[in-house]
Amino acid sequence: MKFPSEPFKIKVVEPIRRTTREERDRLLREAGYNLFHVPAESVYVDLLTDSGTSAMSDRQWAGLMLGDESYAGSRNYYHLEETVQSIFGYKHVIPTHQGRMAENLLFSTIVKPGMCVPNNIHFDTTRANVEHQRAEALDLAIKEAYDPHCELPFKGNMDLHRLEETIHRVGRENIPLVMITITNNSGGGQPVSMENIRQTRLLLNRYRIPLFFDACRFAENCFFIKEREPAYANTPLLTIARELFSYGDGCTMSAKKDGLVNIGGFLSFNDDRWVQEITNMLILVEGFPTYGGLAGRDLEAMARGLEEALDEEYLRFRIGQVRYMGELLEGGGVPILKPIGGHAIYLNAKAFLPHIPLSQFPGQALAVTLYRDYGIRGVEIGTLMFGKKDPVTSRTIHPELELVRLAIPRRVYTNMQMTYVAESIIELHRRRELIRGLVLTHEAPALRHFTARFREFQESLQLQPITA
Ligand SMILES: *Cc1c(COP(=O)(O)O)cnc(C)c1O
Repeated sequence: MKFPSEPFKIKVVEPIRRTTREERDRLLREAGYNLFHVPAESVYVDLLTDSGTSAMSDRQWAGLMLGDESYAGSRNYYHLEETVQSIFGYKHVIPTHQGRMAENLLFSTIVKPGMCVPNNIHFDTTRANVEHQRAEALDLAIKEAYDPHCELPFKGNMDLHRLEETIHRVGRENIPLVMITITNNSGGGQPVSMENIRQTRLLLNRYRIPLFFDACRFAENCFFIKEREPAYANTPLLTIARELFSYGDGCTMSAKKDGLVNIGGFLSFNDDRWVQEITNMLILVEGFPTYGGLAGRDLEAMARGLEEALDEEYLRFRIGQVRYMGELLEGGGVPILKPIGGHAIYLNAKAFLPHIPLSQFPGQALAVTLYRDYGIRGVEIGTLMFGKKDPVTSRTIHPELELVRLAIPRRVYTNMQMTYVAESIIELHRRRELIRGLVLTHEAPALRHFTARFREFQESLQLQPITA
């Protein structure tokens, strides 16, 4: 069936307020045309991120009432430990308040200055946490991962030749671990194949280097394996997940993604040598090892969410909903990144707004117009987020891709709301020449997209409105 109808019915509703175009125009001016500074209550469909924005099930909400808030030995920890072990199969389960803390604990224990950590593509917090140890974070995805027009079923795969070359170049003793991000978030939510994971494992066995997964969207990745790798067409998703993780030595996880919770994460691995040091650090920065910065009820919601994330009906709807919106857009002639990934649609702003030069932030201009005209919030991933200043000429070096990401929260919006988003964008695309660029008026030295301010670009010769 082309239309993935919802495999749930709605028990609780959260009203969303409709705003007028005038109101949104005023809010944008006040926010300096930065969508991070627009109040969420004034957004109709919020596609800023799929992180921590999931709707929990009745079973998860019921689990909150079973929270055991004991300082040590909470029953919810044991439930989480059992659940993680049954899916991921690793011995030690260390809860954290979100994914980046799991990264920090792992890297601060095993990564030393001057070392190198290869990954298919590092997510920003993963990169930052590797670099914080004064080590090199190296992206080694296959070269097709960087081509917006190339359609491959597993565009998130690791480039095994470059990985082996890297091991020879830097020496195996300087690679404390290799990571694989499933799905590859920074590369457009593209999956990694079981075959590629197996081959990576075989290669690393020869050099005795541990393999870890950045497992944030593991369930979505498992669904793509079932759909696209013929040997797995009839394999249950839990079996696929267990095989996948069996090729690794551990994982970091942000449960704000495929854990279907609003806060939570964990670190899990087999090696007994690291437990003591990591646990000591955990107690220093997060809390006792049976709660790790979370309430007992959060641990329960996370355990239940991890089980639900592998439900095939749910995943078919989830992946299908993203694909449905992407196909509507494509059918309407809107340029998007292909193939459609697991958690988001990426609008190609360079192709959408060819009349706006990169110096006037076409991606941001598109995101701003989507909000002003339709109340839809996406996020620019382009010049604003990744543009760099050349240290010599102080000219801006523009990233390869200028995108607007529309991340779809899990189980939150109906297909009708997705249709609204697609139709709005198609309509906007028809009158795209009217969209104006932006002029940057303020920027911070680092992570400028969070605080930048703009004004609208004014043509010196503007047409006067015709008055009869
Ligand atoms: C979100 C994310 C993280 C970081 O998790 P937080 O919970 O936001 O700290 C790490 N890696 C990937 C691939 C992610 O998507």
